[in-house]
Parts: sequence; structure tokens; C-alpha cells
Amino acid sequence: MTTTKKIALVTGATRGIGLETVRQLAQKQSHVILAGRDRAKADAAAHKLRAEGLDVEAIALDVTDAKSIAAAAKEIEKKHGRLDILVNNAGIMADDMSKTPSQQPLELWRKTFDTNVFGLIATTQALLPLLSKSEAGRIVNVSSLLGSITHHADPASPIYDYKAPVSYNVSKSTVNAWTVQLAHELRNSSIKVNTIHPGHVKTDMGGEAAPMEIADGAKTSVELALIGANGPNGSFSHLGQALPW
Ligand code: NAP
Repeated sequence: MTTTKKIALVTGATRGIGLETVRQLAQKQSHVILAGRDRAKADAAAHKLRAEGLDVEAIALDVTDAKSIAAAAKEIEKKHGRLDILVNNAGIMADDMSKTPSQQPLELWRKTFDTNVFGLIATTQALLPLLSKSEAGRIVNVSSLLGSITHHADPASPIYDYKAPVSYNVSKSTVNAWTVQLAHELRNSSIKVNTIHPGHVKTDMGGEAAPMEIADGAKTSVELALIGANGPNGSFSHLGQALPW
């Protein structure tokens, strides 16, 4: 039975933090739609989680492809009629790390923004009608501490010298800014939208040397996906701690 459970969708969920977010949401009694741009990879990942006894289905969703987003929204509407949780997790780090901010090729800025910003906004726009059919819609935007302008401007911050990957950093600042704008629009609705930093996590993106395990890296997304009516709207946080914008 999926009708009494929360219906959740996680983008970019074939590996890394997204896959673990699916696992943890399903462990907390949600029916989770595992979205991947490669249908076969999404099917294989969902199959593995179902073998763990979890209530997971796969869907194809490339956040840079308008047709793919529209088809996914249509499929969810047909199957479930609503969406309770959207975790915008899909993201790329495409910068040339050898380049300074002023040297970073424009095509890499465009590539990064297509996925991290425009893909996230397009997915949200397409799924908002289904989230508004939920009693308590929740949107979690997976950002990064690297999106914090306050940290980047502070010579005492641990990320002060981390100006490569510049287009990634600015894309996450933009995700944060978009979250505040959308939160204002939704402030009198039952939908809440928040942006989070998962931590520096051992994934393909975070690298082997990252200090955090994937299981911990999914915790902030899961926490904000499951907030109650008194939970925040328009916040930026990591493991329960507010972060500077
Ligand atoms: P990852 O291991 O590189 O996984 C990224 C996921 O995004 C993959 O499933 C990938 O799918 C998917 N993806 C990429 N482009 C996509 C597209 N156009 N449409 C749909 N899915 C797409 O990264 P991660 O570390 O788990 O990162 C997850 C999120 O956390 C990202 O938004 C990232 O910026 C953020 N984050 C990560 C860290 C960290 O330390 N790891 C720190 C701060 C923030 P494929 O498998 O098909 O490539």
C-alpha cells in the first residue's frame, strides 16, 4: 500500500548521497521514487533497495531535459496523484579545477548551471502542482557550504581559498537564493522549501578523502524532507545547525 505513506521523489539517486537519501526515506515509511537520468541504472538501484525490503520504485528523470521532466511528472500524477516530498539532489561539479575564477570557460559555467540551477528549477516547477496536492509538501534543495557567500567572503573561513570550482560554488549560491525566493512565494501554503549542506561526503563527487560517510551525508536531506508543520521554510542548514547565506 502506497497511499497511506508519504510519496517522495529524489533526483540524481542512482548513487552517492541521493541513493542513500532514498534508502533512509524508505526506512522511515515513505514510498520513494528513485529518479535517475539513466533508466537502467535507476531500475538496478531500485531493485537493490527493494531487496533490502524497502518500498522503492524507479523513474527516468534527466533534470536538463524538459521532455524527461514532463514525462516523469505525468507518470507520478497517473500513479500517485500527488507528491509529498521532492529532494532536488542531482548535481554536477564540472569546473576545470586548474583555472582561476576569471579563466573558467563559459561553456563549463553553462553546463554547471544547466544541471545545478536550471534543472533544479525546471524540476520544481513541473512538480509543484503535484506537491500542492499534498497535505504538507516538502522541497529540499541540496546545496553546499561552497554556496555560502558569507563564508567565501571571510578570510577566516575554511573555504576561503576554495575558489575553484567557481561555477559550482556560484551555482549553489544561486540555489540558495532561489530557495529564499520560492519560500516567500509559498509562505502561506502548506509547502515548505529549504536548502541544505549535506557535509563533505565520501562520494564520487566528494572524493575518497572526504571526512563524512554517505549514511551521514543523507541525514540533513532526510531531516528537512520530514519536518512537521512547525518546521522551517526558507532555511539553509547542516545537521540541525543554521548556516550563513
Ligand atoms: P555524485 O556521487 O557525483 O552523484 C551525483 C548524482 O547526480 C548522480 O546520481 C548523477 O547521475 C546525478 N545527475 C547528474 N546530472 C544529472 C542530470 N542531468 N539529471 C539527473 N541526475 C543527474 O554526487 P553526490 O556527492 O552524491 O552529490 C549529491 C548532491 O550533493 C549534489 O547536488 C552535490 O552538489 C551535493 N553536495 C555534495 C557534497 C559531497 O561532499 N559529496 C558536498 C556538498 C554538496 P548519474 O549516475 O547518471 O551520473
